[in-house]
Amino acid sequence: MTALGRRGATARLALVVILLASATLRGAPFTSGQEGPALAQSRQPAGVTSSPQGLETIQVRPNVYAIFGAGGNVVVHVGADGLVLVDGGSADMADKVLQAVKAISPRPIRLIVNTSADADHVGGNGVLGDAGVSLSTDPFSQESHATVLAHENVLLKMSAPTGSASPFPTNAWPNDTFTSRFRSLYVNDDALQVIRQTGAHSDADAMALFRNADVIVTGDVIDLRQFPVIDPARGGSIQGELEALNRLLTEFVVPNIPQVLKHGGTVVIPGHGYVSDYAEVVDYRDTVTVVTDIIQDMVTKGMTLQQVKTANPTKGYRARFGSDTGPWTTDKFVEAVYNGLKKK
Ligand SMILES: [Zn+2]
Repeated sequence: MTALGRRGATARLALVVILLASATLRGAPFTSGQEGPALAQSRQPAGVTSSPQGLETIQVRPNVYAIFGAGGNVVVHVGADGLVLVDGGSADMADKVLQAVKAISPRPIRLIVNTSADADHVGGNGVLGDAGVSLSTDPFSQESHATVLAHENVLLKMSAPTGSASPFPTNAWPNDTFTSRFRSLYVNDDALQVIRQTGAHSDADAMALFRNADVIVTGDVIDLRQFPVIDPARGGSIQGELEALNRLLTEFVVPNIPQVLKHGGTVVIPGHGYVSDYAEVVDYRDTVTVVTDIIQDMVTKGMTLQQVKTANPTKGYRARFGSDTGPWTTDKFVEAVYNGLKKK
């Protein structure tokens, strides 16, 4: 992943070291009698490991791992019930992700939570789900397939109206959906909250918070490599994006005390790029807020989109988060914000 860059890799490494140090200080939440081979493995000196498949697995908590390089990031939560995954990467990487998951723990995949309907997040659902076992105790449920949980709009996007071809095979579709603000479930001795976020990156966004592990997986609401990817054609909006970032900081991501901008606290795993925390999310939220305010001023003055682009409203942040090439350019971000503010 070239976009990760040296800076991202270095920051990630540093964060891993800090997290591991703090995990040691707070004391691992498990006793040796509770866990089998998985924990024995997790107690080995951890850090960045390059798996033979070209994927990269890092341990972010004693029982939580992140796999990079499979499209969207894949998060693995290990516990007594088995494995809980957040996202499954893209379809063409699914076999490799499955190998990387098995290298973390031999336990069965019980639940896959999807953070959106994007192909690089849900494409692996089929292969990973088929390798797993349902979370349900109902003997008539799909025993041979892991539970795949997502907001209802993920299913609507992955399936298709009657008569049209579905963009994904049926074994990749969510088999458990929700429409409420939260779906909460106690699994692996942890309280997992799947949090609905309305129309930020898309209209199918969800974030997954493991309360005991203190890890939140945000999906594409955050992408620290670049300005947030807002997809208006699929229901995304700058208003929803800002709401999501503010909500993260006020409700879910707990800072270090007393120095709130020191690294530590809740681990934040974005849909792409490196692992993060409160301080970086504050920085990101402030960036998106400032740029939005600048564009709002320009909209109020009656400037056209072209005039706004020429005026360079991302000045000061462009070098850090901007791009003139690739799938998500600075111009596209400015356009999404401009159109979203004009529509208001
Ligand atoms: Zn993504």
